[in-house]
Formats: sequence, C-alpha cells, structure tokens
Amino acid sequence: MSFDPASVLDADLAPDLPPVRAGRQPAGASPAEAILHEVFGYPAFRGAQREIVEHVVAGGDALVLMPTGGGKSLCYQVPAIVRHRAGQGVAIVVSPLIALMHDQVGALHEAGVQAAFLNSTLDAEGARRVERDLLAGRLTLLYAAPERILTPRFLAILESLHERGQLGLFAIDEAHCVSQWGHDFREEYLGLSALHERFAGVPRLALTATADDHTRADIVERLQLERARLFVASFDRPNIRYTIVEKDEPRKQLLRFVRDEHEGEAGIVYCQSRRKVEETAAWLAEEGITALPYHAGLDADLRRRHQDRFLREDGVVMVATIAFGMGIDKPDVRFVAHLDLPKNIESYYQETGRGGRDGLPADAWMTYGLADVVNQRRMIDESEAGEDFKRLQRGKLDALLALSEAHDCRRVRLLAYFGQSSTPCGNCDNCLHPPATWDATEAARKALSCIYRFRQNNGQRFGAGHLIDVLRGKRTEKVAQYGHESLSTFGVGAEVSEAQWRLVLRQLIALGHVQAEGEFNTLGLSDSAREVLRGEVPVRLRVPAEARPRGKAGRAGTGSRDKPPPLPLDAAATGRFAALKAWRAEVAREHNLPAYVVFHDATLAEMARESPASLDELGQISGVGTKKLQAYGSELLRVMASAGPD
Ligand code: ADP
Ligand code: ZN
Repeated sequence: MSFDPASVLDADLAPDLPPVRAGRQPAGASPAEAILHEVFGYPAFRGAQREIVEHVVAGGDALVLMPTGGGKSLCYQVPAIVRHRAGQGVAIVVSPLIALMHDQVGALHEAGVQAAFLNSTLDAEGARRVERDLLAGRLTLLYAAPERILTPRFLAILESLHERGQLGLFAIDEAHCVSQWGHDFREEYLGLSALHERFAGVPRLALTATADDHTRADIVERLQLERARLFVASFDRPNIRYTIVEKDEPRKQLLRFVRDEHEGEAGIVYCQSRRKVEETAAWLAEEGITALPYHAGLDADLRRRHQDRFLREDGVVMVATIAFGMGIDKPDVRFVAHLDLPKNIESYYQETGRGGRDGLPADAWMTYGLADVVNQRRMIDESEAGEDFKRLQRGKLDALLALSEAHDCRRVRLLAYFGQSSTPCGNCDNCLHPPATWDATEAARKALSCIYRFRQNNGQRFGAGHLIDVLRGKRTEKVAQYGHESLSTFGVGAEVSEAQWRLVLRQLIALGHVQAEGEFNTLGLSDSAREVLRGEVPVRLRVPAEARPRGKAGRAGTGSRDKPPPLPLDAAATGRFAALKAWRAEVAREHNLPAYVVFHDATLAEMARESPASLDELGQISGVGTKKLQAYGSELLRVMASAGPD
C-alpha cells in the first residue's frame, strides 16, 4: 500500500508555532522551568524531573525509572512543549493504555496544550482530522497505541515529519511492556525498536515504574537504548503510610479502616479472586459505603461504567482484582487496601503506589494471615512455569513475607528492595507504634517437634488448628480420636495464646521450615526445620496487636519526611473548599472529563486556605497555570467570595 502523507495535508496549512510567551516565571528560569510555571502552574520540579527534562530538551535519550505517582508524565510533556515551541515539531507518546489517553489529552487541553490521540476509539473521520493536524504542525503531543504507530500509513506520516525536522521526541510510556519477564508484556512493543532505526536523531525517552534489573536490561536491549542516560528516581513515596495488620476478621477490619479513617474518600480494595471481589463490594455497599466491583470476568460495559464512576465521582471505593489499576492516574485515591497478599513486592508497590499521587497523605493498608502464605506458595508450586521461573517467584514471595513479618520500618525494607538505603520513616505502622516482640525460639521448637511426633505416632499429618489444640492441651474430639493426649508435646504450649501460635506457624511457613500441603493444608517439616529444632536459629516475633489505635494517614508522622502534612482547613476555608468542589464538578461534567483534570483537590484546598483576592494571587497557587487562570480565574474568585467571608 502506498500512501502519500501530503494527500491529507490541507494546502494552506503551514506549521504555526506559538511564540514563547512571557510567563510568570522568575528571572533566570530555564525554558523548561518557564513551561512548568506557565503551563502547569507548578512552582518546582520534583526530584529527578529537572535533570531528566533538561537532558531530553537538549536532545538526549533517556530511560527513566520512577515509582507510580512519581511524576513521569511531566518528564515528557515539558520537553515536548519546549521543543515544539522551539520549532522542533511534535512529540509522539507511545502508550498501551487507550482508556487513559482521552483523559490525558483532556488534561493537556485544559492547560492550553495542543494534543490529540490516535486509537481504535476514533472513527475514520476523527483519525483523518488528527493526521491532518499532525502533519500541519498543530500538535504538541500525540498519544498513540504501539500497533497504530507501526502501521505503514502512520510510519509514512512520521517519515514526512522527520524529513521536515518536525519530529521532536518519542516518549515510550510503560516501557516494561517490552519485557517478557513482567506480567504486562505486549507483543507490539517489540516493534518499537523500528523507531530508532528509521528516525535516527530523534530523542527517545522510555519510562517505567518497574525497577528490577532484569526488566531494565530487557528494555535497554529491546529498545536499543544502550546509549541512553539512565535516571533512577527515588522510589520513596513519603506521603503513603504503610500498614500491615494481622488478618483476624478481614471484612470487619476493612470496614473499620474505611469508616474510621477514610469516610467518604476514594480508595481501592484489592482481592485475589473474582468471587471475593463481588462479595466484598456487595458487603461494603450493604454497610452504606459506595463500593463497586471490578474484575476481568465482568461485562466490558459494566467495567467501563464502574471505572468511570470511580474516576468521576467523589468518594467511590473500587473493590477489584489486579485487573484494575494499570493506567488509572486518579490523583486523589486516599487508600489502597489489600485483603489478600499480592504476588511480590513489585506488585505491592505498584498497587499501593496508586494512592496519593497528589502528594497528600494516603494509606496503604494490608491484612495478612497464615492462609495467604499457604495460598501464595501453592500457586507458585502448582503453576505450569519452569523450575527457574518458580525459583525466582519463590524468592520474590519470601521478600514480601519478610516485609509483612517485619517489626522494623516497612519503608526502609521497601526501599532497600529497590536498592535504595534510608532511615526509619516515621510514617509506617512499625515506626508509629513499634510492636512488642518476644523470643519465640522455644515455641517454634515445640511446634516443630509436635509435627514430628504426629508423623511418628501414626504417619499422619494434621493442619494448624489441630496442632495448636494439641500444643495448648485442649481435649477435643479429634485429640481423643487420635490419642494425642499421650504425645509428649500435648499441652507443652499452654502458656502461649492461640493468636501467638498462629503467628509462630505462619512464620515457620513463611521461612520455609514448615510446608502446608494438600486440600486440608496439613503441615510437614522441611529439611531446614532441623536447625530450628536444634535451637540454632533464633526466632523473634511481634506480639500480635489487637487493633492498635491509629490517627489519620500522614497526620501524625514524627519522622523527617520532607513535606509537612497539610494543615486541616478551618470552617470558612471548608465552606470555600466545598463550593469550589461543586463548581469543579459542574465544569468537569460540561467538559466530559474527570474532576481532577480541571483542578486537583490539593489545588482547590490551597485556594480555599489562601483565599486569594486577585487574579495575581490566584495565579500563585500550585496547579494554576496561565490558561486555567484565564479560563476560570474570575469565576473562581466569584465562587470563593460567595461562599462567605473569612
Ligand atoms: P506517574 O505517571 O509517574 O505515575 P504522574 O505523571 O501521573 O505520575 O504524576 C503524579 C501526579 O503528580 C500528577 O497528578 C501530577 O500532576 C503531579 N505532579 C507531577 N510533577 C509535579 C510537580 N513537579 N509539582 C507538582 N505536582 C506534580
Ligand atoms: Zn517506617
């Protein structure tokens, strides 16, 4: 098929490049900083953003590893605008997330940036229009799915732009999709190396939140980024508070957590199975919480509706399998709860990272129990994967179990996992309420020797419940049936509570000394149990905490986090905040966009608190760029004034 890009070009369309406008940036700001202030209304780059942006503006290639919510989008959006204004053409953003493109482009329009997307949701006429705009130099950014980009038709368009020096940048988002190691592998991503071969000299920026060495090496190799500069941003998300609690009555624990700490706020609850998703959502709804289910087994239309409500309404709780979340960039998710153990620390970090993207306090909360450990181990054992892959998975699970069992700072462990050293954070459960610990070495030996005696007695294996009964000396029917009162281990652990015994067993299973097998999870010893039996391995455990008192997320941090938690609003400011939110809901509805695309909560809260009296003062608020100030400024001042005086 031959296709002449010139045929879609309107004859009279010459590239019209907007002049660099004088913004509100302080004297001496670089062009990139000027754009950050003027277009996005942000006072400063975050962390590594500045360096990345300057490198790409100067034409360099880069691979960026940054956690979810770390601020990857600005890393290519700012260079795209700078390069476009400098006459260097359009930035092509490759993204696998079609659902996200609409909102991202909407957000750019709100900020006054010419952007568009090309994907299967456009009809032929719509796609032609975008192609015309693209060729005419009217677009600063174009988002497209990889399969779109690699069509002969689209490559011809890129060719035409390239010849005229109008191809400014390739940004490859979710770059880990090129790696077969991750669970997000996309065949089409493999074709993206063609971009480098055909359009030499156009800077390329690959971005991902996946940090392990394996994936990183894959990205470099497959996308031919050997000469790209590597930027590894800090993986810390200081505003997220990590809490891992003993699974006791998980639903009630969840309800208490949502009600006490996140009433009326948006959050995600992850469950492992579809059934549990539906049951949990239904139960929360019965308890008066706006909760919706989401999993891959639901009808596509229903899934879209639920996702839409989550994005667009205030305070919706999404109960979901891991099918939900990729490409959700809602900034005001206030909590992410796990009712089941995720697969590994990468998954845990990615999923919890969906909370608090706006930088305000957010909670990552997980319940964790014996069954979780057993289930995850079994899923690996019974999978079809090869032995190598299984070994890798087991290692990753062990790291997650160690995190869950830890009695020291969770964040220190998380960051260490990603190769970053740090000091206790003051904003995780263990820092805020250091757990009491006890020496469980003796108890562990007793449990192991009891499992051993069962085996000797009549060659049988038993589950945790019966084992604990025997250790505590309970005369149950089953104990009588098997004559277990006569075992030397009967009643040797009466002084240890049942909850503590469960913890001992979980730890022994987590550490691999005990294996749970079969339909009834009966317990057996592994080779390593011997060392514990001989007392060579000390076992130190946390004392199980019955629901410790907690404050609101992030408000009680005692550590040296870099950003102080925002002050609560006083009565007058609360009134303004409510009025601003109502106004925003109206605008969002009119523009068919999620509310946060118009303004983030954090921006509205700052407005409500500062109560600016003029457009100039309003323009100083973080998140208010030039375009939004023009479009909404007077309206905002009016809304705040009519919400009442200070
Ligand atoms: P990621 O893609 O890395 O998960 P995003 O690009 O969605 O993260 O950014 C997360 C949030 O942080 C967004 O709401 C964005 O507007 C905000 N953000 C990013 N950089 C800055 C900055 N320099 N100043 C203020 N807010 C920022
Ligand atoms: Zn901590």
